[in-house]
Amino acid sequence: MEIIESIEALRERLSGESSRALVPTMGNLHAGHLALVRKAGNLASCTVASIFVNRLQFGEGEDFDRYPRTFEEDCRKLVEAGTDILFAPTERELYPEPQQFTVDLPPVAKELCGAHRPGHFSGMATVVLKLFNIVNPHHAVFGKKDYQQLHLVKGMVSQFNLSVKIAEGDTIREEDGLAMSSRNRYLSPDERAQAPRLYFNLEKIASELRCGNRDFSVLEKLAGKDLEARGWMVDYVEIRDALSLAKPCANSSRLVVLGAARLGKTRLIDNLEAGIAQW
Ligand code: AMP
Repeated sequence: MEIIESIEALRERLSGESSRALVPTMGNLHAGHLALVRKAGNLASCTVASIFVNRLQFGEGEDFDRYPRTFEEDCRKLVEAGTDILFAPTERELYPEPQQFTVDLPPVAKELCGAHRPGHFSGMATVVLKLFNIVNPHHAVFGKKDYQQLHLVKGMVSQFNLSVKIAEGDTIREEDGLAMSSRNRYLSPDERAQAPRLYFNLEKIASELRCGNRDFSVLEKLAGKDLEARGWMVDYVEIRDALSLAKPCANSSRLVVLGAARLGKTRLIDNLEAGIAQW
């Protein structure tokens, strides 16, 4: 695996590659990331992973400074997963001057996680657009774990007529159901034991939906209360249309249950799709 820090060197290295697949990450890699890298390997002859902790998508008081940075270990894992090139730019390389042009997103970016992390998705979309322009990939792979992010990236690609094709990776989980996340390492042993409760509640809602229950707000509230009773601070638990991420309507045939909640200082997010019969 070649490790490249500069945009110019990367462009030059990639110029002869006939097909490129990109997996953008913030590092501290786990099996979820590596599944995306393997998927990328099946899509193109050259697999590019990027590691960049993007300050632009962190709000004030969020965990930018303490975000886990484990570069050496990440490199070993990327080699094993078959990565050809790791793009690991410095902040100076990607943002040589303050980034004043940013991606303006539709209103859905201010809902769900966007309601609790102002500016987060614009910062994310801005760096993703930069990475697309730098790598010029034929394919890019994103995880469903960040469902709203994936939705917005797909919308950006479609409405800006970008030529990249977006591939999706299923959420990889620990044995007890907890979605793998770089932030799981912030959890104390007690919090770790409690952490699968978010997924447990999403599963409970998804199974109710599949059984025909359409009392969305009752289901959402019950899940929120269950988590709060166990000491979680709930940002939201919501049932949405899986395609539009809007509130479900009578035409919705695929729903997704999304949740974000804090255990102590750690904010966890998760989601679960639920195909349903027509109403
Ligand atoms: P991050 O490093 O958190 O920015 O994530 C980089 C990519 O990995 C994103 O597309 C995420 O959706 C994806 N990802 C994170 N966690 C998981 C997981 N548990 N399973 C599958 N993909 C994941």
